[in-house]
Amino acid sequence: MLTNDQLAKWDREHFFHPSTHLGQFARGEAPQRIITGGEGATIVDRDGTRLLDGFAGLYCVNVGYGRAEIADAIAEQARELAYYHAYAGHGTEAAITLARMVMERAPDHMARVYFGLSGSDANETNIKLVWYYNNILGRPEKKKIISRWRGYHGSGLMTGSMTGLDLFHRKFDLPLAQVIHTEAPYFYRRPDTAMSEAAFTAHLVAELEALIAREGADTIAAFIGEPVLGTGGLVPPPAGYWEAVQEVLARHDILLIADEVVTGFGRLGSMFGSQHYGLKPDLITIAKGLTSAYAPLSGSIVSQRMWDVLARGTDENGVMGHGWTYSAHPIGAAAGVANLALIDRLGLVEAAGRVGAHLNTCMAEAVGDHPNVGEVRGEGMLCAVELVAERDPRRFFDASEGVGAKVVGAMLRHGVIARAMPQGDIIGLAPPFCLTVEEAERIAGVTARAITEVL
Ligand code: PLP
Repeated sequence: MLTNDQLAKWDREHFFHPSTHLGQFARGEAPQRIITGGEGATIVDRDGTRLLDGFAGLYCVNVGYGRAEIADAIAEQARELAYYHAYAGHGTEAAITLARMVMERAPDHMARVYFGLSGSDANETNIKLVWYYNNILGRPEKKKIISRWRGYHGSGLMTGSMTGLDLFHRKFDLPLAQVIHTEAPYFYRRPDTAMSEAAFTAHLVAELEALIAREGADTIAAFIGEPVLGTGGLVPPPAGYWEAVQEVLARHDILLIADEVVTGFGRLGSMFGSQHYGLKPDLITIAKGLTSAYAPLSGSIVSQRMWDVLARGTDENGVMGHGWTYSAHPIGAAAGVANLALIDRLGLVEAAGRVGAHLNTCMAEAVGDHPNVGEVRGEGMLCAVELVAERDPRRFFDASEGVGAKVVGAMLRHGVIARAMPQGDIIGLAPPFCLTVEEAERIAGVTARAITEVL
C-alpha cells in the first residue's frame, strides 16, 4: 500500500484539480485531503479523521454515503451490460426505467427526459434545444438567454457564461455575447435596505422588464434560474418573485429553464423546486440528486409544448444532431433507479424538509444574535449564514480578509465540513437528507463556536 506521503506527492505532481489554487497546491502550500470512505453524513480520510459532511460533497450525495443498495445496482449493471449507447432508438432497461421514474415525479406538463452526464452538459443541451426550437418555429433571431447575476449553471462555455459569478468569468473571456444578466433576487443584499420584500420583488421585475425592452423580446429565447440561488449564496427568492417573473416571461414568449441541479429530488422538502414554488418551466435541468452522485448522470426534462415542436423539427430536418457517447449510460441509470427507489423507501424528501427546518431553527438560535451575523436563511436542507462587518448599518467585510473561508476552516478543525460560498462571506450548509437531528444540532453548535473563534 502506498504511504500517505507518496500519494500526496503524486497528487501535487500529476493531478490537475478543478476549482483549485493551482500554484499553491503544486507547491504544497494548500490543503490536501484524500478521502477513503463514508457512511451516512460522515466521511473518513486516509488519516482516519472523521468529518461530518455538512455539504454532501458538492450538495450531491443526497441519500448519504455507503448505500449498499446503490452500489449493488451499479455492480449488477456493470456485470450484465456496462455500456450500450442510446442513439437511434437504442435503450437499456435501466435507462428506460429511470426515464419513467423521473417523469412520474416531474410536474405534469413535462413530456420527456434527455439524459446527459453533468449539470453543465444538461444545461448546454437545454440551450441547444431552445435554439433548435426557435429555428423550427422560424424565428432565428430569438436566441439570447437571460440569466441572473449570482446564478450558477455550470462551467462550460455557454453554461459558464450563464453562471453569474465573477470567478467563473475572470480571464476566460466569458460571458459569451448571447448571454445577458439581470439582478440577483437576493433580498439581504438589496440595493436599499429600506426596501420591503414586496418592493424588492417589484424592483426586480421592473429591472427584468427594462432589460427585455432594451434588448427586444424578439431577440430573447429563454430565462434560466435556480428555484433557490445555490452557489451564488443559498438564497430563497423573495415573496412573489417566481409568480411575477413567470408572468413577464409568458407575456414576451420567453421560455423558462428551471435549473434544478441542486433542488431536484428533494432538497427543498418537495420533489422539485418547481412544485415548491409553483413554476411551470419549459425545461428542467437535473443532475446531482438524480443518482446522489453514486455515478455521473444528468438530464433535461422537456415540456410537452417544446417536445411537440422538437419532434416536428426532426420530421422536417432529419435526426437531431445532438448526443453524447455516454447519454443515458446504463451504470448511471442503474444508480439513478436505485437512488430514487431509496429516497421513496426512506421518505427522504419529507426528511429533508423536516430535519432541514430543524437545522435552520438551531442555526438561527446558535448564531442569529452574533453581531457579525447579518442573516441566517434557508429552505429545506439548505442553510446559509451571512457574515457582516456590521449589522446596522449593513456593512460587508472586505473580500481580501477571507472571513468566510476562515470560519469554514475553523469548523473543519472541529470536524464539520461547510462551504465558503464563492462570492461574499457566506457559510453554506447543504447536508445529506439522512442527517439526524443530533447532527443538525452539532453543525449549528460548531458554526457558533467557529464564528466566535474567528470574529
Ligand atoms: N446547475 C446548478 C444549479 C449547479 O449547482 C451546478 C453545479 O453545482 C451545475 C448546474 C453544474 O453541474 P456540474 O458541476 O455537474 O456540471
